[in-house]
Amino acid sequence: MNLEGIHHITAITADAQRNVDFYAGVLGLRLVKKTVNQDNPTVYHLFFADEQGSAGSDLTFFEFPDVPSGRPGAGDVHRVIWRVASAQALDFWEGRLPANGIEVERDGDSLRFSDPEGLDHELVVVDVDDEPLIADHPEVPAELALRGFHAVRAYSAAPEASRALLEALEFEQAGEAWEARGEKRGGLYFYDEPPTASSQQGAGSVHHVAWASNMGEHETWRERAISAGAHATPVIDRFYFRSIYFREPSGVLFEIATLGPGFTVDEPLEHLGEKLSLPPDYEHLRAEVEPKLRPVVNPRTTSTG
Ligand code: ZN
Repeated sequence: MNLEGIHHITAITADAQRNVDFYAGVLGLRLVKKTVNQDNPTVYHLFFADEQGSAGSDLTFFEFPDVPSGRPGAGDVHRVIWRVASAQALDFWEGRLPANGIEVERDGDSLRFSDPEGLDHELVVVDVDDEPLIADHPEVPAELALRGFHAVRAYSAAPEASRALLEALEFEQAGEAWEARGEKRGGLYFYDEPPTASSQQGAGSVHHVAWASNMGEHETWRERAISAGAHATPVIDRFYFRSIYFREPSGVLFEIATLGPGFTVDEPLEHLGEKLSLPPDYEHLRAEVEPKLRPVVNPRTTSTG
């Protein structure tokens, strides 16, 4: 039994429109679900992923309108690492990102940049057998597109404290990384020495990282986490998947999320993310919630009519 790599990564934005313009418009991901934060249904929860809305490529944002910028510190994921296929793909992004006002730093097979709110990303050329998770974008040829998550990097002052929990979750040490590799996908987890300034959550901060569980193994992962000392929540039904949350000893908020049922549970694949989706338990709030949310224009649907 193994976790199937990274399921999703959730971060915070102060501006849903700017967020959609960057991730769907520039980075070429697909907005696959526009819903509300289930713990605070007056704010958006936006999900970007590949064309199918696959776990493994799913970057999500809570919108807290106009929240000040965050600053990552100990206990935070501070960088999202994506796979690309080739050095040509890095060349492409090395041109496309600056053309859209994003500074980049190229170092061999790696290209680093920050989103407009300061969330750090890295594109790396990786040769793995995992299925590439690619979204369609008229300006991004498929062979140059992002192919799903490779890793996250977190700050920890004492990463050894996390060893027992990571081992209970069947992460394996792979060089300087920990790897969660299942039958279909793998994902890496790195620790870096934290900056001296303490963490401040805000726009551009990562809120949590979710690891992917096969449907039938979810409860067992919860028991494993608890047996390794984690204070895990009960299983929470997020409608698109089921979730367990706990903080790992280095302070990073982990989630273990199921690989189903997925985003097509309430809208067809071809129309994912076009309208505000509310899970059944939240549908009664629509009349109250929808007028309070600032409308978001998706550059993808506007460009294709
Ligand atoms: Zn989550």
